[in-house]
Amino acid sequence: KKENKRARLLQVNKEAATYFFHQLRSENGRAGWQYLKKRELSDETIRKFGLGFANMTSNDLVKFLKSKGYEDEVIRDAGLATFDEKFGFHDKFWNRVMFPIQDINHRVIGFGGRVMGDGKPKYLNSPETPVFDKSRNLYGLNIARTARKNQIILCEGYMDVITMHQAGFSQAVASLGTAFTEGQASLLKRYTDEVILSYDSDGAGVTAALRAISILKEAGMTGRVLNLEPYKDPDEFIKNCGQEAFQKRLDGAENTFFFEIRMLQKDYNMQDPESKTKFYREIARKLCGFSEEVERENYIQAVAQRYQISVENLRRLVLSYAMQTG
Ligand code: ATP
Ligand code: MN
Ligand code: MN
Ligand code: MN
Repeated sequence: KKENKRARLLQVNKEAATYFFHQLRSENGRAGWQYLKKRELSDETIRKFGLGFANMTSNDLVKFLKSKGYEDEVIRDAGLATFDEKFGFHDKFWNRVMFPIQDINHRVIGFGGRVMGDGKPKYLNSPETPVFDKSRNLYGLNIARTARKNQIILCEGYMDVITMHQAGFSQAVASLGTAFTEGQASLLKRYTDEVILSYDSDGAGVTAALRAISILKEAGMTGRVLNLEPYKDPDEFIKNCGQEAFQKRLDGAENTFFFEIRMLQKDYNMQDPESKTKFYREIARKLCGFSEEVERENYIQAVAQRYQISVENLRRLVLSYAMQTG
């Protein structure tokens, strides 16, 4: 019974994706097509990601799905329509460019819809449903898993993934606004050991990257962090600097430990001996996390060199913390 329900939800999602796909190519979808062109996506890319369009006029999707024999209940449970006092039972997505979200087996499990202007919310996403568990899926992984690259690039958004793929970086996936989870980490671990973090370079992106680093560590994966400055996200970087420059940034992606320390330093004033001392204590505490002696020593040497402290002093500080924590 439960399996029947899931199959039906996947079916109705697929039907909706096809509908949006055709709308984008019809007179109704003109604004959507123009929007995607303005964002420099090729016809091939638009097709590859199955992008579509949800009409301005309400209820077109509901009407279409009902004509195909889907009951209100299935349409609602798939998150494609909602009920409210004002509009009754109506389409969830109106006048938006549609991004179908697929699982690793290419089944459509949900949608993201973007406004074409400055409206809010910028992206409207499907709710969690029996087939859409946000914490266990990654946008683009259905394609990235076959990319045969020795790393995966993890970013924030739909457009980041799509632009990277279009530029040849088909190893890109997105965690879709939600924080990166353990479930997503174990999913990634099936396909790669190294994750390149490529979150937005704003405050929220840095915070998300720091959390992702500890989740990756716990999952036993190594990572590096991409520096996109002065651009905001991979999409903007590639559009401004091109594919080669992006490859260079990838090759030079930063060790996650160095990234953590560099971000940590922002909280301290290196001109103030008290603050500076606290900073070193914090570093020493973090260095205790390396249980293998050789690795720890390598990091002690590298960090000492970067942050104006002698290797001896830093090593001594680390030892004092290592003894405390056992
Ligand atoms: P664009 O380049 O189209 O402006 P973006 O991906 O750079 O979009 P961000 O604001 O960086 O947009 O958001 C990253 C991701 O977070 C989006 O791709 C989307 O998946 C999700 N997201 C953004 N805004 C919202 C929102 N208002 N509600 C739900 N999810 C959102
Ligand atoms: Mn962002
Ligand atoms: Mn962004
Ligand atoms: Mn963006």
